[in-house]
Amino acid sequence: MTHDVAVSKTREIAREVLAPCAAQNDKTGRFSTEAVSALGESGLLGLMLPEGVGGSGLGPRTFADVVMTLAEADASVAMVYLMHILGTASISAARPNAVQAVTPILREIGAGRHLSTLAFSEAGSRSHFWAPLSRAQRNGDGVHISAKKSWVTSAGHAQSYVVSSLAPEGKGPTDSTLYLVTAGTRGLALAGPWDGLGLRANASAPITLGECEVPSGFQLTDDGAGFPAMLNVVLPLFNLGTACVALGLCRAAVAGTASHLKNAKFEHLGQGLGESLPTLRAQLATMQIDTDGLSARIEDLVDNLEKPRETTMLRVLEAKAAAGDVAISVTSAAMRVCGGAAFSKHLDIERLFRDAHAGAVMAPTGDVLREFIGKSLLGMPLF
Ligand SMILES: Cc1cc2nc3c(=O)[nH]c(=O)nc-3n(C[C@H](O)[C@H](O)[C@H](O)COP(=O)(O)OP(=O)(O)OC[C@H]3O[C@@H](n4cnc5c(N)ncnc54)[C@H](O)[C@@H]3O)c2cc1C
Repeated sequence: MTHDVAVSKTREIAREVLAPCAAQNDKTGRFSTEAVSALGESGLLGLMLPEGVGGSGLGPRTFADVVMTLAEADASVAMVYLMHILGTASISAARPNAVQAVTPILREIGAGRHLSTLAFSEAGSRSHFWAPLSRAQRNGDGVHISAKKSWVTSAGHAQSYVVSSLAPEGKGPTDSTLYLVTAGTRGLALAGPWDGLGLRANASAPITLGECEVPSGFQLTDDGAGFPAMLNVVLPLFNLGTACVALGLCRAAVAGTASHLKNAKFEHLGQGLGESLPTLRAQLATMQIDTDGLSARIEDLVDNLEKPRETTMLRVLEAKAAAGDVAISVTSAAMRVCGGAAFSKHLDIERLFRDAHAGAVMAPTGDVLREFIGKSLLGMPLF
C-alpha cells in the first residue's frame, strides 16, 4: 500500500463507516467494532509494520494523515487507531529473545485481525506513566504481574495489551519493563465502565491484572528497558498522533462552523448569520488561522521524525502541548460562534469540544510537557 492509497482508503472509511455513526456512538458510549473491522480489512491496522509480516512499511507522514482523517469524522476511533499503532510499534520493537513468540501476533495485525493498545497509566502514579507502581514477579522463565491500570483505550475490545511494570529487580521508579499480555489471559479483567466527558466511544476503561502469567517470549524489552522504549518508540508517535487528532477536530470544527454560518438565517433581516455579522466571520477566520498553524507544526514534526536531528525531541514535546491548547481554543470558539445551536446539541460542535479536552489530559499532559521543555531549555535533568 502506498501513502496515497492509505489516505484514500481512510477517507472512504471515515465517510462510509465513521461519520454516519459518530454522534450516536458518542451518545451511548458505544465502541465502534465495525470501524475496527473496516480498518483491519483495508490493511490500515498494519500500516507501519514491515512487509515481511504483512504490513505496509509506511512511516510517520502516512500515519499522521490517517489519524487526522479519522479524527475529522470521529476522534474516538482515531484514538483507538492511534493506541493500536503504538501497541503494534512496541511489539514490533521487541527484543531479539521475543521475536519468535511475537511474530505470529504481528502477522495477525498485518492481516487486520488483531487490535492492540497500551496499558501504562496506573491508579497510584496517575499521569506519571513512566513510574509504574506494580512490579513484575519472577515466575519460572517468565513473570506474573498484578497491577491496576487506570485508563486503557479499547479496554475489553483489544486482542492484546502492552503493559508496563517495574522490573522484578528494578531499583529506581523508572526501571520498568514492557510485556505483552493477550486478551483472555487469566487474571486480566475490566475494572469499571468508561463514561468520559469526551472520546466517549473509545472504551478507555480501567483494567486490573491479577497475577497474570506472562511467558518470557512476551517480555518485549530487557529488564528495566521499558522506560527508554516509552521515550524512543512510543512518545514520538503518540505526540504526533494526538496532535493529528487535535488537527482533525479543529478542521471539523471550522467546517461545521462555516456550514452553520452559511445555513442559519436571520429571517427578519433576510441574511445568513455569517453574511450578517463581521464578528462571527472574524472568529471563524481566527479558527482557520490557528488550525493551519497546527497543520504547519505537524508538518514540521513529521519532517523532524523523517530526518531526525537535534531539534526532534523538542518538536515532539512541543507539538502535543501546542495541539492540546489549539484544539480546546478552536472548538471553544466554535461553541461561541454557533451559540445556542451548539449549546443545545443541534450541531456536532459540542462533541468536538468535549473530545478536544482529552488531548491535554492524556499523559504526558500539557503541563508535564511544559515542565520537560522548560527544564531542557535550562539544561536541567527531566526526571
Ligand atoms: C480518553 C483517555 C484515554 C486514555 N487512554 C490511555 C491508554 O490507552 N493507556 C494509558 O496508559 N493511559 C491512558 N490514559 C491515561 C492518561 O494518559 C493519563 O494517565 C490520565 O489521563 C491521567 O489523569 P490524572 O488526572 O489522574 O493525572 P494527574 O497526575 O492526577 O494530573 C492532574 C493534574 O496535574 C497536572 N500534573 C501532573 N504532574 C505534573 C507535573 N509534573 N508538572 C505539572 N503538572 C502536573 C496534570 O497536568 C493535570 O492537570 C487515557 C486518558 C484519557 C483521558
